[in-house]
Amino acid sequence: MAKTVQPAPSPEERAQSLRAQLEEASRNYHVLDAPTITDAEYDALLRELVDLEAAFPELATPDSPTQRVGAAPSSDFPPYRHDVPMLSLANAFDEADLRAFDARVTKLAGSAPGYCCELKIDGLAISLRYERGRFVSGGTRGDGSVGEDVTPNLLTIKDVPRTLESGAPATIEVRGEVYLSRSEFAAINQARHEAGKPLFANPRNAAAGGLRQKDPRLTAERRLAFFGYALGAFEDGDLPATQFDLLHYFKRLGFPVNPNVSRAPGIDAVLEYCRGAEERRDALDYEIDGVVIKVDDLALQQKLGYSGKDPRWAIAFKFRAQEARTKLQAIEVNVSRAGKLNPYAVLEPVQLGGVTVKMATLHNEADIHRKDIRAGDTVVVRRAGDVIPYVVGPVLELRPPDAVPYAIPEHCPVCGSEVDHPPDDVFAYCTNVRCPAQVRERLRHFCSRGAMDIEGVGDVLAGALVDHALCRDVAELYDLTLETLSTLPRMGEKSAQNVLDAIEGSKSRGLARVLAALGIRYVGGQNAALLAGAFGTIDAVAEAGRDRLAAVAGIGPQIAESVAFFFAQPPNVDVVERLKAHGLDLSAPLDAEGAPGPLGGKTFVLTGTLPSLTREEASELILAAGGKVTKSVSKNTDYVVAGDEAGSKLAKAEQLGLAIIDEAALRALLA
Ligand code: NAD
Repeated sequence: MAKTVQPAPSPEERAQSLRAQLEEASRNYHVLDAPTITDAEYDALLRELVDLEAAFPELATPDSPTQRVGAAPSSDFPPYRHDVPMLSLANAFDEADLRAFDARVTKLAGSAPGYCCELKIDGLAISLRYERGRFVSGGTRGDGSVGEDVTPNLLTIKDVPRTLESGAPATIEVRGEVYLSRSEFAAINQARHEAGKPLFANPRNAAAGGLRQKDPRLTAERRLAFFGYALGAFEDGDLPATQFDLLHYFKRLGFPVNPNVSRAPGIDAVLEYCRGAEERRDALDYEIDGVVIKVDDLALQQKLGYSGKDPRWAIAFKFRAQEARTKLQAIEVNVSRAGKLNPYAVLEPVQLGGVTVKMATLHNEADIHRKDIRAGDTVVVRRAGDVIPYVVGPVLELRPPDAVPYAIPEHCPVCGSEVDHPPDDVFAYCTNVRCPAQVRERLRHFCSRGAMDIEGVGDVLAGALVDHALCRDVAELYDLTLETLSTLPRMGEKSAQNVLDAIEGSKSRGLARVLAALGIRYVGGQNAALLAGAFGTIDAVAEAGRDRLAAVAGIGPQIAESVAFFFAQPPNVDVVERLKAHGLDLSAPLDAEGAPGPLGGKTFVLTGTLPSLTREEASELILAAGGKVTKSVSKNTDYVVAGDEAGSKLAKAEQLGLAIIDEAALRALLA
C-alpha cells in the first residue's frame, strides 16, 4: 500500500507550531508548576525556534518566546513590579557555544575578561527587597517586569533574613534562587506517599509549587531554602567592584550564598569549572542544571548591557540532560541468580545524556506502587552519571484510561513455579531449586566449602554442567558418571574421577549441611544446624509446618515461613526425594538443647588466614556442626583457630592458655 507523504511544513507554519508548543509548556512550567515536557525537550524546541528566526528574520515577532522572559504572572497573587527587570540567560550547550560567548564578549570589551563561575541552582528566581536593613517584600520573576507578590510565603523561609547585618544600604534588592534540598524533597515525598497523595516529580516543581501557595502555612511545610546571587535595585551604599565580591558582600549582609563560586581568569578555566561541576553534581544535596558564567567586573557588565531578554555579559552552560520522557511499553521481570524477581521497564527508545535508553530499573513492586507506575504510562526516566537509568515516575496527565496498577507475577516468569512474596519483604522470590535462572548459582552454592564441600565444582564447572545440560538441579550431580563428565571440554579422565569421588564423599555430610546447601532463603549454617538438631530428619523438617518450625529456639517466623514455603513446592520435594534415593545422609542426631553436632556448645574464634578455607566458610562449617563463632577471645573461648598472620587474638589466646588449633585440626574436630 502506498504511504501518504505529509508535505513538510513551511518555515512559517513550523515557527507558529513551535511558538504554540513553547507557550503551552511555559505556562505549565512557570504558572501551574506542572511541566508536561522535560527541560531538554523545551530547550530543543526553543533552540529550533531561535535558529528559524535567525534564518528567516521576517518570522521574528516581538511576542515570540525567544524574546520574552518566563510567563505572565498568575492572578492568584497581587502583582509585584520589578523596577529593575528580572531577565533571563542565554544558554550554552557545549564548548563551542562557550567559546563563541567568550569571543563575543572579548570583541565588545576590547580584551579578554575574567569571569565568575557559579552553580546554576534548579529552583525558582525570587527578588527580595530590603529598606533600611529590613525585609519589606518579595516577588517571583513572572514575565520579568511583573511577578507575583509572595511576601507572606517568603517570611516562612528561614534562609530569608528579616533584618540585615549592620552596614546595609538604604535600599537593596537581592535576587536569588528559592530551592528545595534533595533530602527535604525525599522526606516530603515519603510523607505524601504515606498520606496517599501523588508524589512530586522533582525538587524544582515542589519548590515552585510550595512558594506559590495561597496559605503560607503550606509554604512553611516545604522547608524551602535560598541562595542569593544577583543585585536588583540599590541605593545609598558602597558596592563592590566585581560579581565575586558582590557575593561576599551578600554573605556579610546575612544572605546564604552558595560556596561553590570560583573566579576564572579566562575561558579555559571556565570550561574546567563546568566539567568539574557536572562531575560533582550528584554529590550535592540540591539539584543544579548547569553553571552560570558572568563577566566578573560589574562596570564592564554595565557597559556590555543586554540583547533582548538576555544579558550580554552572562551565559548559562546547561549540563547534559539527566531526564527524558518516554513511553513505558511494558513492565517485565527478570529472575536473579539468587531467585529474586526484579521488575524492569521496557521503554520506547529515548536519547538521554548521549545514549539510547531502552530499559530502566523499577527496583521492586513496592517502589512501583509508591510511584504508581503503570504499563502504558508516559514516564520520566533519569540517568545520573554512570548509574543504571531508573523510572522517576509517571506523567499522570498523560495516563491512558485503561492503564491498570501493577502486580508482580504470581508465577516465576522463567520456570512457572509459584512465587514467594514474604509480607515484610519488598521483593518476591522464586524458590524452585530447578529454576533455570538459578541452577548455576544453586549448584555452585551446594558444592561450596561451607555447604557440601565438593572439591572441584566451583563456578566454572557448575556453569559447564548447566550449559551442557548435565545438571538441571543439584540432585543430578549424583547422576553424573565418568562417561558423561568426560564429555565436558578440558575434562580429563583423572579430573573427572576426582570430581566423582568428591561428589560421593559429600553423601555423608549430614542433614545440617544439606539444609544449608539447598539454598533455602534465610537458612545458612547456623539455622540449618538448629533445624537439623530439632527435627532429626529432612522429612520431619519438611512436614513440620510454619508453626512448629517457628517454635524452635532461634528460628523466627520469617525463617519458618521461608522453610515451610520451600518444602511446599513440588519441584523442591522432588529434588529432596532424589537426594534421598542417591543415599545421602539426611539425618542428624537429635539434640535436646538444640545444639546438635560434634561441636555442640563449643565456642570458636577465627584469626589470620587459613590455608584453604575463607573465614566465612570456616564459620559456616563450625555453625553447621553446632558450634558458635565469636569475634573476640575471652576465657569462655574453647578454641582459637589460627592461620597465617594471626595477630593480637592469637597473643591473647596464648596469654589465657587457650587451645590453639590450625585448619587441619579444625577439620579433624568437624569429622
Ligand atoms: P534560564 O534557565 O535560562 O536561566 C535563568 C535562571 O537561572 C534565573 O532566572 C535563575 O532562576 C536561574 N539561576 C540559578 N542559579 C543562578 C545563578 N547562580 N545566577 C543566575 N541565575 C541563576 O531561565 P529561564 O529564562 O527561566 O529559562 C527557562 C528554563 O526553564 C530553562 O531551563 C528551561 O528548560 C526551563 N523551562 C522548562 C519548561 C518545561 O516545560 N519543562 C518550560 C519552560 C521553561
